[in-house]
Amino acid sequence: MTSHSPDRTQSTMLHINNLQKSFGELAVLNGVNLEVAQQEVLVIIGPSGSGKSTLLRCVNHLEPPTGGEIYLEGVLINDTTKSRRAFESHLNRIRCEVGMVFQQFNLFPHMTVLENIMEAPIQVLGVRREEARQAAISLLDRVGLADKMDNYPCMLSGGQQQRVAIARALAMKPKVMLFDEVTSALDPELVGDVLRVMEGLARDGMTMLVVTHEMGFAEKVGDRVIFMADGLVVEDAPPQEIFSAPKEARTRQFLAEVL
Ligand code: ADP
Ligand code: MG
Repeated sequence: MTSHSPDRTQSTMLHINNLQKSFGELAVLNGVNLEVAQQEVLVIIGPSGSGKSTLLRCVNHLEPPTGGEIYLEGVLINDTTKSRRAFESHLNRIRCEVGMVFQQFNLFPHMTVLENIMEAPIQVLGVRREEARQAAISLLDRVGLADKMDNYPCMLSGGQQQRVAIARALAMKPKVMLFDEVTSALDPELVGDVLRVMEGLARDGMTMLVVTHEMGFAEKVGDRVIFMADGLVVEDAPPQEIFSAPKEARTRQFLAEVL
């Protein structure tokens, strides 16, 4: 067990009950059940198209689920019975509490690195400019890029841009961070720096859901790994168990292909 392993007496951060998501006829999530403890690092693996991204996107409401419940610290944060419009007022709060980083970094190209990080705290949280600036500088320090604060994104490597994207998400002081294949688009030599930032976050106690193909990271940093297929959680186990002795045939087959 690593030092950041969740204290099981701690309460649940995220509880997902029978989550369903369809796009028209296509059923993508078929009843996902999941519990994530405070400070836990949950790694999500599975074949392409199994619904990993859709699951994360439902958690922060980039996609409205079609069924089931999502609770954040015991508070229901989705409502499939009301109209989307009725729910709109909740969305900002959810987006603040749940940070997300994508494969494509999507930094604002016309803003400096520092401005990218300051933007949402000022615009959404109403933080004063100087305070946002100081917070952004310390976040940049944390991801090892304090010397790049006045650069524009196009002047940075992919790995540096991704670390800025992580700092930008952290600037909203989220309770949970979602990472969707954040190193998949990077040149191999840039992957390590990004994974080290994520490892540091885990060590500092951030609750994280991480979709990744980096099995080394899963093994070292993950508290638990879930294997998804066809919109369901097929297997849910500690990393050492899932990598050395997977119980389900589909997990074994998947791991044999990727390892
Ligand atoms: P994964 O991240 O595991 O590769 P995704 O969650 O991206 O899987 O996708 C699961 C399935 O949902 C795929 O068949 C994909 O084509 C489909 N899908 C995802 N997003 C949409 C969308 N906005 N509209 C229609 N189909 C979608
Ligand atoms: Mg995906």
